Amino acid sequence: MKSPDKILVINSGSSSLKFTLYSIAQGNRRLANGLVERIGTASANMAYRRDDEPKSERIVSAEDHAAALKLLTECLVDPERGVLASLDEVDAIGHRMLHGGEIFKAATAIDPDVMSKLKALVPLGPLHMPANIGGVEACEKIFPGAPNVAVFDTAFHQTMPDHVSHYAIPNEYYEKYGIRKYGFHGTSHHFVMLATAEFLGRKPEDLKLITCHLGNGSSIAAIKNGKVYDTTMGLTPLAGLVMGTRCGNLDPAVVLTLVRLGMSADEIDNLLNKKSGLLGVGGINSGDMRDIVNNAAKGVKSAETALAMWAHRIVLFIGGYSTLIGGADAVVFTGGIGENSFQARECVLNLLASLGCYIDREANNTRRGPCYLSTPESKVAAIVMPTDEELMIAKETFEVVSSR
Ligand code: ADP
Repeated sequence: MKSPDKILVINSGSSSLKFTLYSIAQGNRRLANGLVERIGTASANMAYRRDDEPKSERIVSAEDHAAALKLLTECLVDPERGVLASLDEVDAIGHRMLHGGEIFKAATAIDPDVMSKLKALVPLGPLHMPANIGGVEACEKIFPGAPNVAVFDTAFHQTMPDHVSHYAIPNEYYEKYGIRKYGFHGTSHHFVMLATAEFLGRKPEDLKLITCHLGNGSSIAAIKNGKVYDTTMGLTPLAGLVMGTRCGNLDPAVVLTLVRLGMSADEIDNLLNKKSGLLGVGGINSGDMRDIVNNAAKGVKSAETALAMWAHRIVLFIGGYSTLIGGADAVVFTGGIGENSFQARECVLNLLASLGCYIDREANNTRRGPCYLSTPESKVAAIVMPTDEELMIAKETFEVVSSR
């Protein structure tokens, strides 16, 4: 059988569908990408970009994910802007899947049995899983000959020991309802671990890393000898760090207090997921780190507090994780903020000196990753490493399909 070459990566959200097409044979080259947003409306926004051309956008009507995918695939075979002669050239499709529960510990080819297991996991991701599964079903129709592979946000974290992944509530809530810490952003933490090992010229099994994925959604993973030991997100992506609009860790009694104040579960969900974090604390009607940093620099007190709170929470975890994994070789920054906001990174790096991690201000202010942000005498290195979740999904899909 010929080795798979063209891999399509699909990220299907509740109202959007994104794709990237790679050629593995051309050195993992990205051939094209695109997205449809506001699916379900008559004025959905579609963008398509062939790798060697500027992006084109137009308003389309896409009543569901299958319709959106059909529009995007028409671009792929368009005689002028396309990159494929026929959709049959797509060898496999990799799907970003939010939740693999405890069943899926690695990327998995989807067959009817796997599909029914994915459907059984919907209660663990009621907003995302139906959309992720819908993306697979749309691909089954449009690419009937190509295998579909699920790549899970949770899978890389499945190595956490029980005393780390379980909550201190009665065991029956875990046994009956699967309530425990799962962790997310696993594909990014995995990619960044591999890329950092390559950057350092070492094997992942010989490294202890603290990877910080800092974007709108943010999480940290403590990775010991290639395996996740702990991570900050929990049963859902709401736990852990202060994020763009999410609160991260709270005294659980805050939720009880809100219930007793008369708020419904949906209202609390909306408050903690969409109105909190940098947006809620910064006082400038924005959860975007660029706005927070600019306003903090101008002396806006609430923005200063938000930035300090954001950095405090990150360092709290870095310190704890460093102790728990017996000292880290490197703290790695990635994600939109981690890769780009030197001001936000500086707030974190300024607090890491007691670990023996000393900021190289010149590098932090001017250099783009992959590179060191710490001085050579540091005992713990700080590194910035760009992430690429789509490419990781393509690579994992290739591995699964090649090994069948
Ligand atoms: P998501 O979690 O939605 O994937 P991203 O990883 O794209 O989010 O991160 C978005 C965050 O990255 C925003 O807070 C934004 O301010 C920040 N960011 C993106 N680009 C820059 C930049 N050039 N300088 C500073 N911050 C940036």
